[in-house]
Amino acid sequence: MPHRPYIVGNWKMNGTRAMLAEARAIARGAARYPDVDIALAPPFTLIGALRAEVSEIGVGGQDCHVAVKGAHTGDVSAAMLADIGADFVILGHSERRKDHGEGDALIRAKAEAALAAGLGVIVCVGETLEERDGGKAEAVVSGQVDGSIPLGDAAAEAVATGKVAVAYEPVWAIGTGRVAAVEDVVAMHAAVRARLVAAYGEAGEKVRILYGGSVNAGNAADLLAAEGVGGALVGGASLTADAFLPIVAAA
Ligand code: PGA
Repeated sequence: MPHRPYIVGNWKMNGTRAMLAEARAIARGAARYPDVDIALAPPFTLIGALRAEVSEIGVGGQDCHVAVKGAHTGDVSAAMLADIGADFVILGHSERRKDHGEGDALIRAKAEAALAAGLGVIVCVGETLEERDGGKAEAVVSGQVDGSIPLGDAAAEAVATGKVAVAYEPVWAIGTGRVAAVEDVVAMHAAVRARLVAAYGEAGEKVRILYGGSVNAGNAADLLAAEGVGGALVGGASLTADAFLPIVAAA
């Protein structure tokens, strides 16, 4: 099933208010691509300001807590993200899995909390280099999909309305300049799709599967044209309009 391409910039822990100018430039440029869904996930500190300044693109967070509120010093809930105008949240990024010990069950709980708050979700999965070299990439990624995508009635509704996406990001391709081979991306996206259909039935075809890991202006066209690739999750190349908009154009 063809999907509207979804190009999402993940600013990670980059960006002070000075960078809102880049976000404005990205939003202005986005107007030239009405057939592409474009979004940015800046640090928590910029979400409110970004939402107030741009309406042409989606704005999201990079994590949320499972609880709605309470004694969780330093955390931010999905309800709080929704309250400042976020549209979605990225969950289970490999940097969260590694740096914060997040496992599949926690990521699923966060995804379900985010849907309950009315946000869309992008659930990230991806194998390490050791896992790929050991021939385990597909098993690892399939297991992550099975364990971390949201389930239940709210998830079924969100899947049907296109609010659930999965990002396949091989850990060894993130921030390394080493992009996955197109045939490997195609194979993995097919494996992810099979798990989504197993979980959601036919509606699983509606979930957009994004590729992430060193996507840039030079490789975006090949990756985005590949079978089963519904968009891109872009880190480093999303930090400036000059780097990001050619990726949007390639979609
Ligand atoms: P990168 O990051 O584009 O800088 O490799 C992608 C990501 O981690 O989402």
